[in-house]
Amino acid sequence: MVNRDNFRKIDPYVPGDQPDFADMVKLNTNENPYPPAPAVIEAAERFSAGRLKLYPPTDGGALRRDLAAYHGVAPENVFVGVGSDDVLSVIFQSCFNSGRKLFFPEISYSFYEVWAELYKVPYFKVPLKADFTIDADDYIGKENGGIVIANPNAPTSMAMPAADIERIVAANPENIVVIDEAYVDFGGESVLELTRKYDNLIVVRTFSKSRSMAGLRIGYAIAQSELISAINDVKNSINSYTMNFPSIEVGKASIAQEEYFRTTIARILKTRERLVSELSKLGFVTFPSSANFIFTTHKTVPAKEIFEKLREKHIFVRFFNKPLINNYLRITVGTDEEVDKLIGALKVILK
Ligand SMILES: *Cc1c(COP(=O)(O)O)cnc(C)c1O
Repeated sequence: MVNRDNFRKIDPYVPGDQPDFADMVKLNTNENPYPPAPAVIEAAERFSAGRLKLYPPTDGGALRRDLAAYHGVAPENVFVGVGSDDVLSVIFQSCFNSGRKLFFPEISYSFYEVWAELYKVPYFKVPLKADFTIDADDYIGKENGGIVIANPNAPTSMAMPAADIERIVAANPENIVVIDEAYVDFGGESVLELTRKYDNLIVVRTFSKSRSMAGLRIGYAIAQSELISAINDVKNSINSYTMNFPSIEVGKASIAQEEYFRTTIARILKTRERLVSELSKLGFVTFPSSANFIFTTHKTVPAKEIFEKLREKHIFVRFFNKPLINNYLRITVGTDEEVDKLIGALKVILK
């Protein structure tokens, strides 16, 4: 019989549920409620499947070139991957090999700890301030083997000023600082421009949230070419052909649809404002969000109870049964109609 001691044991990352009910309101995984731009859908439909007999380019090809042009950098400054989860996972394997502790916020994207465990990177979870904001000084003048910060942070939804990030990057010239900008398009200040100035900064982005393309799996990193090349070497040692032809074609089409992109973001920000104000009337206290989701707590009713009662009504929000955040709900900003259904259900639940 197989010796189970030889199996790798790890507490896996637990993604939000992907329930499937016709009547559901799904506000639990921060997907964009709007479809991709019409031109993106056309590009997907136009894709000529005969090309699939060939291997795709190893570096993301035309998608990489278009992303570089979009951001005003060279293709050598861009690394493309299968969602930012893939990009971050390769970065964890490439960049934190000093043996010193990797720093990331104690409350943040829970995948960071999973990768640190998986790749055996020692780490330190830096506590947040009492108001759940990140104190830049906690990352300055402290011995570390690298830093990862999501900005805006998840699940708190709050953003750090770019100036604070720059202080962290400047104070750690020997260590790599990764800024995960998955939600930056919804109100954060990007530090992408600073990659020109600092050779230790990597900015990671995704098509999953602001570009309504979670299902296609495209993420990318921007950094100086030496760093990108090091990440590429590791990626090519795992799987050279990560970016498939449809992702390259359809991703390219999305980059060209700037107006649609801006319009859907503006719509989400407007709905976010309304959601926060309606929740406040019902007794919720919500953190100031710079993302396409909000983080909220009710003054009297426990988050778990609200989460479960919403779930019975097929309204899905995210509840984390973890210390420090187990009385909060993370709610994705959906369409106005979805928000109305949520608010309607909460009025019944809290009555
Ligand atoms: C959603 C998310 C990601 C991963 O997104 P992909 O779909 O893999 O691109 C990365 N970081 C944070 C903080 C996220 O919320």
